Formats: sequence, C-alpha cells, structure tokens
Amino acid sequence: MGSFSLLSAAARRLEGKVALITGGASGIGESTARLFSKHGAKVVIADVQDDLGQSVCKTLNPSSTTFVHCDVTNEKEVENAVNTAIEKYGKLDIMFNNAAIAGVAKPNILHSDKAEFEQVIGVNLVGVFLGIKHAARVMMGARKGTIINTASVCSTIGGCASHAYTSAKHGVEGLTKNTAVELAQYGIRVNCVSPYFVATPLAMDFYKLDDEGVGSVYSPLKGAVLKPEDVAEAVLYLGSDESKYVSGHNLLVDGGFTIFNRGFSMFELS
Ligand code: NAD
Repeated sequence: MGSFSLLSAAARRLEGKVALITGGASGIGESTARLFSKHGAKVVIADVQDDLGQSVCKTLNPSSTTFVHCDVTNEKEVENAVNTAIEKYGKLDIMFNNAAIAGVAKPNILHSDKAEFEQVIGVNLVGVFLGIKHAARVMMGARKGTIINTASVCSTIGGCASHAYTSAKHGVEGLTKNTAVELAQYGIRVNCVSPYFVATPLAMDFYKLDDEGVGSVYSPLKGAVLKPEDVAEAVLYLGSDESKYVSGHNLLVDGGFTIFNRGFSMFELS
C-alpha cells in the first residue's frame, strides 16, 4: 500500500485537486509532492533533474503522479508543463513555483559577476513569473486556483545569502503581492511561503555544511529543527480550501528568525 492511501477520504485535504510543482524532484518540492499525493491530489512534478523526478514519481501513486522535464527559465517548457497537467488530469488547481538555485557564495560584491547574478534572477524570479503567468492562463478560465511561490527568509531581510538570491526572493514577495491583486478578480489566490534554513542540497552546498542541524542554531526557537516536511505542511495549507480567504500573504516558516534581533533581546538579559 502506498503512502497516498494512508489517510481516510475524510482526512484528505486535496482530494480531486491537480497540482504542478516545479523543483519537485528534491527537497521541499519533493516533500510537498509526497504530502499532496497523500492528501489525494494528482501531482505533476516539473524539474530539470529527470532521473530523480521520475524516481520520486515511482514511489508515489503511479496513476496520479507524472514527471515532466521543465527548465523554469524556458517559457515553452513552463507552458508545456502546465499543458501536461491539463492533458493528463483535465485541470490545474494548485501551482507551486518552488524551483530555485542558490548561486555561488562570494566574499564580496566585487567578486560577483553579472552573468551569475542574472542566472539566479532568471531561475528564482523570472522562473516564478513564468509559472504564475502560465498557471493564470488556465486558472483564469476556470475562475479559481491557488498559486504558491517559494520565497525565503531572504524575502524580508538581508545578509543571509547572495545579493542575487536576496534580490530574487524580495522580488518573489513583490510579484506575489502584485499578481494576488490582479488575479483576485478571477478567484485566484497567490501567496508565498518563506522558510528558514532547511537541510536540502541547495542550502547544504551553498553554506558548505555537512551537519544538518547546524542551520538551526541561529533561530530563537529551540527544541525543533525545520524539515522539508514542515514547509510542505505550510504549502498544503495555502493549497487547500482551508486558506480560501488568504491571498497576497508571505507565510514565514522561520521559528521567529526574521523578527529576532540577535544584537539585543531583553529576554537574554540576566
Ligand atoms: P533543492 O536543491 O533540494 O531543490 C531545488 C529543486 O529545484 C531541485 O530539484 C532542482 O533540480 C530544481 N531546479 C533548479 N533549477 C531549476 C530550473 N531552472 N528549472 C526547474 N527546476 C530547477 O532545494 P530546496 O531547498 O528544496 O529549494 C526549494 C525552494 O526552497 C527554493 O525556492 C529555495 O530557494 C527555497 N528555500 C530553501 C531554503 C533552504 O534552506 N533549503 C530556505 C528558504 C527557501
């Protein structure tokens, strides 16, 4: 019995829904594909890692999971990924624009080059724009739908990642708000989810870490470590009807990291 059948019909929050997940072959996207599938959704995983994406699909319900090769910087491929969802499953209820790259850590801006900056913006911001655009193309006709974009704690504060990554993630929040306003008239909601450090290939490679727990030390919340599954739960909320009146929101999943000033906290005075 696959994990998709573990929940009772009543407990499945995405029964009958169709979701497209970019960057669904790994990390947060993969976890979300697994959780969505468990909750009864038909899932299309879109990624550039074909073998990995196909192997994730094989471990889920084969009749309701599909992989499509898609580089989110290529508009034709994004268009094709959305069309695949329609051809396979007849509609698109949930678009999760989650694919991103971290870029390369540089000691300072003088070492940052334009091509690298544009590459990160291309995947992390233009890719999200294309995903929203093509999801909206089919959702506007249906007059419903929910779009979720993965931003980051870097959507609200500086100093945690490269200039390009931070710029892109601020951009994702802005794009989320702008499209939420425009698409509201069609009954389409647009939100973003902003995780703190999660030990995925993207973060472990960028920060050159080998200890998965090390990222949590900077969060004020003790006794918990943020996992991809925890972010997936936030995406499930934004993808489900339970969030039917939530739009234009940036849901931080960060244990209070972005509201905590490490320079001063009266609670640390003793
Ligand atoms: P990950 O590396 O596990 O997954 C990213 C996926 O995106 C990979 O499967 C990769 O193949 C895919 N991808 C990369 N470029 C692509 C492209 N051009 N087209 C299609 N797919 C592409 O990393 P993750 O941490 O799960 O990242 C998911 C999202 O979470 C990203 O938007 C990332 O910025 C965000 N995020 C991650 C963290 C963290 O600490 N891991 C924190 C905040 C936000």
